[in-house]
Formats: sequence, structure tokens, C-alpha cells
Amino acid sequence: MENYKTIIEDIYYDLKNVDDIGEVANYIPELAFVSPNSFGVNITTIDKENFGIGDFDQKFSIQSISKILSLTLAYKLEGENLWNRVDVEPSGNPFNSLLQLETNLGKPRNPFINSGAIVICDVLLSHLKNPKVDFLNFCKEIANNTTLNYNEKVAQSEKKSGYRNAALCNFIKSFGNIKNDVDEVLDFYFHICSIEMSCKELSQIALYLADDFYTTHKGNRVLTMSQAKRINAIMITCGFYDESGEFAFKVGLPGKSGVGGGIVAIHPDKYCITVWSPKLNQNGNSYKGMLFLEKFTSKTTSSIF
Ligand code: GLN
Repeated sequence: MENYKTIIEDIYYDLKNVDDIGEVANYIPELAFVSPNSFGVNITTIDKENFGIGDFDQKFSIQSISKILSLTLAYKLEGENLWNRVDVEPSGNPFNSLLQLETNLGKPRNPFINSGAIVICDVLLSHLKNPKVDFLNFCKEIANNTTLNYNEKVAQSEKKSGYRNAALCNFIKSFGNIKNDVDEVLDFYFHICSIEMSCKELSQIALYLADDFYTTHKGNRVLTMSQAKRINAIMITCGFYDESGEFAFKVGLPGKSGVGGGIVAIHPDKYCITVWSPKLNQNGNSYKGMLFLEKFTSKTTSSIF
């Protein structure tokens, strides 16, 4: 940890005042109120050692990073049948694209683009009695953290402006790959995206993907080893939309980004690291977050390749 800590501090101060060419997401109006120069980093090792710097303790909108958690629960509940509903191939397209759905007959390319995550929400709705409560309880148990919550303002803001997601959901339903009511699926999707966590909370909740032997404080396993391996595989191939290749190339870890400016990256058997910096590059990924992680894995020589 001492080694990681010094390197994180060095890179953090190097990048803190670097000119950030990114822009804060504003297509969800409520997200535009974030303080644009926030910058935080946190690492949790599989021995549960923890180190954070900057705004690592401040909660932010995790947005698409929540797609890891919704996929995890859907995979637990549905097992291998899940892959009949959503594929595991990179899309090479923006996160909110409608393009491939027509030729792929309503089967999304992967669970980390919006179309795939919307199908995952539909699967969860079919299994859960009180979807929003049950999903949040699932997250609270994995993280051993009762403070986790949806941000109702962000969820409602996205609901009002979520024309593309509504289009995706309706389009997929026309192929029969959405079983529940479209409005219910979208409401659930927008709430899941609105969950807030700090870098510290995020690096703790995702630890089950780094640690093969992870059990929750109640003694439950989150996933089998093989399931965790598969989710890591989808993260490295699809976690950054049409920039997934670039992230694997430069950082070399499974990871997932969100338009709130967060990134979580996993080093299997070692650690989970999170960065938050809200200004995004053209692909909707945190500009400084990508830069930070590239420097971090280079200086610690700790990528998986
Ligand atoms: N809620 C966002 C959306 O659906 C999530 C996108 C993201 O974080 N990439 O547009």
C-alpha cells in the first residue's frame, strides 16, 4: 500500500492543475450542477487497506457505473439464461446508440451500453417484488453501507429528458425483448443510474470483483469465481463504450465509467481503484480519470498485461 500511496499522491498533484479539456455532462440537466473541478481518488486492496486523496469522500452520481451492480444481481438471479437476452460483444458505438439494435433484432450488444442495461432492468423487474428497495438493499449488503441511496432529483431530471432511453426501450420492446411495462422499466433504470457514492464507497463496493474469496458482512458470496471473471471480461471489452479498446490499451485493467465523471478499475487479486473528475471527453468518459489511471498502472507496473 505504501508504494501505491506515494504514486497516487504524485500523480494526483501532477494532474490537479492540468488544463482539463473535458466538459461536464449536461444532457441530464441536474448533472450540470456538479462542481466541475472536483477530483478524488481512492484505492482499496483485497486486504481491505484503503487510501484516498482529494474529494475521495464526496458522493457523486455514479450513473453507468451502476450497470456493474445491476448486471451482477441479474446474473445471480437469472444465471446463464441471461445471455439469451443480452450479448457480450463490444459495440464500438456510443453508449446511447440505437444503431445496432435493428440488425441485432432487439438484442443489445452488451449489458454496459444503455440498451443492454435497460434489458437488465427488465430482467430485474421480473424477479424483484419491490425493485427499487430490493436493488438498494442488495447494494447496501455488498458494500456494508446503509447510507447508499438514489438521488430523486437526478432520477426525475433524467426521466424528463431521457428521450433516447425511451426510444431504446420502446424499440427493444417492439422485438419482444422487454417483458414489463416500458415506463416501469425506464423509471427503474433512471433510479439505478442516479445512485450516489463517493470514490471510497465505490472502491469498497466493487471489491467483490477483485477478490476471489469475497463474502459480505453477512457471510454471503456475491458471485462465483467464474461469474466474477466473466463480469471482469465484459468490463475490459465493453466498459468504456467506443473507447474500451483505448482504455485496455492505455490502462490495461477491467473498468467502468459513468457520465457523472467516475471510473472504477479492478486489478484481479490486488485492488480496486476509483477516480472522480466530472469533466468528460468526447466519448463520455472522465478526461482526467483516464489520464490518472494510465499513469497509475504505468508507474506501478500493475496492469493485467
Ligand atoms: N443515465 C445515463 C444515460 O442513460 C447513463 C449514461 C452513462 O453514464 N454513460 O444516459
